[in-house]
Amino acid sequence: MTERIILGGGGHAHLSVLADWAKRPLPQTERWLVTSARHTAYSGMLPGWLAGNYRADDLLIDLEPLAQWAGAHLVIGDIVKLDADAAKIELSTGVQMAFDVLSLATGGEANVVSLAALGERLLPVKPVDAFLRKWTAFAEEAQQRGTVDVVVVGGGAAGVEMAFGVEAALRLRGVRGTVSLVTPQTGFLADHAAKTRALAQAALARCGIGLHFAKATGTAEGVILSNDTFLHADCVVAATGSRAQAWLAQSGLACTAKGFVQVGANLRSISHPGILAAGDVIERTDRQLARSGVHAVKAGPILAANIRASVAGDRDQAYTPRRRTLYLMAYDSRQAILSWGPLATAGHWVWRLKDWIDRSFVRQYQV
Ligand SMILES: Cc1cc2nc3c(=O)[nH]c(=O)nc-3n(C[C@H](O)[C@H](O)[C@H](O)COP(=O)(O)OP(=O)(O)OC[C@H]3O[C@@H](n4cnc5c(N)ncnc54)[C@H](O)[C@@H]3O)c2cc1C
Repeated sequence: MTERIILGGGGHAHLSVLADWAKRPLPQTERWLVTSARHTAYSGMLPGWLAGNYRADDLLIDLEPLAQWAGAHLVIGDIVKLDADAAKIELSTGVQMAFDVLSLATGGEANVVSLAALGERLLPVKPVDAFLRKWTAFAEEAQQRGTVDVVVVGGGAAGVEMAFGVEAALRLRGVRGTVSLVTPQTGFLADHAAKTRALAQAALARCGIGLHFAKATGTAEGVILSNDTFLHADCVVAATGSRAQAWLAQSGLACTAKGFVQVGANLRSISHPGILAAGDVIERTDRQLARSGVHAVKAGPILAANIRASVAGDRDQAYTPRRRTLYLMAYDSRQAILSWGPLATAGHWVWRLKDWIDRSFVRQYQV
């Protein structure tokens, strides 16, 4: 009997599943990739794209040839409904698909509720393809105007790197104005050592980026901070972290109160073992795991192995993250900060290492 396997989402966590299918046959299966867009962007290179170090092609992976290589049918569309008990998904196009095995890595949505009043001035970093388009239009407008104010909201690694990228992008175009980074102090590189925070803070100051420790709320013309400061903004880049897509909580899958899919170490749903999940969409029941590209990517081979185990009836593997995760954050065009547990350093050599790692990663999947 042929089993139907569906991958939901063509981002970081599913890339190595597709490569696994391409390299090792998976007999008696019918394989599908259902995803929102034909191209997926490697988010770690997005700040470098802003800073002019990469062309869009450098960070985009075309899923059509990749799916073909993997022997998978590609369907472009959003999953809008999942009935976990009936083993069925529904797409934005109205199409319904039944599955034997489903793997979910649909990522998270930008959490922008408190910034919504900004309207057209709001620019969430996800989905990345929409960001690329909208920022390109804004940067052209900024060049014509000559002066703009940009606020980046979010003090995680993504927000900090995006602030550096925005500053470099405007500087390269000769645009004057202000770039500000807003984050609650407790959220400023929270999972990193004090030395990493100090290096980032010093680099932000050198680049002339204003750092505001506060919460931001959107208004029609900018953001009002929790300390009552008003920051005018022509554009607000939101790197405010991920929230779960609403359909997950209504799917019958065991989910947290915030709607993330609860999985065990084997990346299977704790309520529906035929459904696996990884990346930003999950919450582990056995440990806390940061929502990061590193974990999404490293979970990929385990997802691939356990999808095979579902078909062959083999034993599952567990995704055991390393005790420390290496983060490389680019700043000031071609410099970067290295953060690994208590260790932190910075310089051009770190940027070269990051550049080599990022380019090598993307190249693997640019079929
Ligand atoms: C600017 C920026 C920089 C970052 N830098 C780093 C970094 O340096 N290091 C790091 O570890 N992490 C970084 N991250 C975090 C990292 O991008 C995420 O943790 C990672 O992308 C999660 O991978 P994922 O596979 O869960 O989802 P994604 O890679 O987001 O992929 C989700 C996929 O699902 C598709 N999709 C979405 N919704 C649906 C739907 N309803 N139906 C079908 N398909 C859908 C999307 O089109 C996409 O293909 C960064 C994030 C940003 C925004």
